[in-house]
Amino acid sequence: MIPFRDTYRDIPLYSPAKKPCRVDLSDNTNLFGAPPSADRVLREEGFLRLARYPAGYAPDLKRAVASYAGVSVENVTTGCGSDDVIDCALRAFLEPGDVVAFPDPTFVMVPLYARLSALKPVPVPLRSDHELDVDGLLATGAKLIYVCTPNNPTGTVASRAALERLVDSAPGVVLIDQAYVEFTRDGDFLDLARTRPNVLVTRTMSKAFGLAGLRVGWGVGAPSLVAEVEKARGPYKHTALGEAVAVAALTEDVAWMEACAAEAVENRERLRGALKALGLAPLPSEGNFLLVPVPEARRVGEALRERNVNVRVFEGLTGVGDALRIGCGPWPMMASALK
Ligand code: PMP
Repeated sequence: MIPFRDTYRDIPLYSPAKKPCRVDLSDNTNLFGAPPSADRVLREEGFLRLARYPAGYAPDLKRAVASYAGVSVENVTTGCGSDDVIDCALRAFLEPGDVVAFPDPTFVMVPLYARLSALKPVPVPLRSDHELDVDGLLATGAKLIYVCTPNNPTGTVASRAALERLVDSAPGVVLIDQAYVEFTRDGDFLDLARTRPNVLVTRTMSKAFGLAGLRVGWGVGAPSLVAEVEKARGPYKHTALGEAVAVAALTEDVAWMEACAAEAVENRERLRGALKALGLAPLPSEGNFLLVPVPEARRVGEALRERNVNVRVFEGLTGVGDALRIGCGPWPMMASALK
């Protein structure tokens, strides 16, 4: 078991709800905490870096990402969270009024960013087997199609066959959001970003790497594609501290990250078993979370909050209905959702 720091004791973490909960399983972060190297970098370099700007366009971070991902620096863009990389891509490839298509349900920020840039979000329901409706997505004619795999909030994955057909038939860019790739069995599609001219894969330091508070994300694609995204990106997307901590994590803490991810996956399956024993039917997930359809999810979510446990409530999700999304990490934290 990986030791984890009980930061929940003192710090009210992200909780959209009224009062912070002691156990917050709502945001799919690494519940084991931040990577060990972060402690050292903040102590040894933190103060020294504060007074000066970081280098524009994050060259150190891009080098670290390139080396971690096995690509060249020209294949890499970075942003203030992968949210920001997605936002920049929407603005880089689409004009106001253009359609952005995505499977439904998926990551809620995509239609939000689409609207902020005056784009037209067009949801295309996932098939009942949770597979992409490739023909439906193509039929929108969108110049940018967004696909999240493993998908938030369902946890389900797109098949390689469906994704390759989509990528090879799409009239424009396919953005593959892999925020949760570290938790998958064989769901890594970085190879498509290396081999196809129209694929941008986005990744983040916020989930498996335990650095959501830093706001560091990245994207990989063909150099010409990345150059377009960079045109929509300002030079100073990261703090000097954020960049230094992310670089250290990518170079020193990969084994730690993998161990956290493995334990989160193990505990996800343990939770799935426990929920099934209660007569519930969680969706098959390859993320660090489970989506559990429950009638009257809001009421159940509020009852959990009364017991100091915060999970994410969804109402009326397409093809699912009401559901709770429960983040997975150290078992003692997850067990509190079961009590
Ligand atoms: N993509 C997906 C699917 C997510 O769930 C999230 C975070 N909830 C993000 C992207 C954004 O993460 P960040 O901006 O922290 O990199």
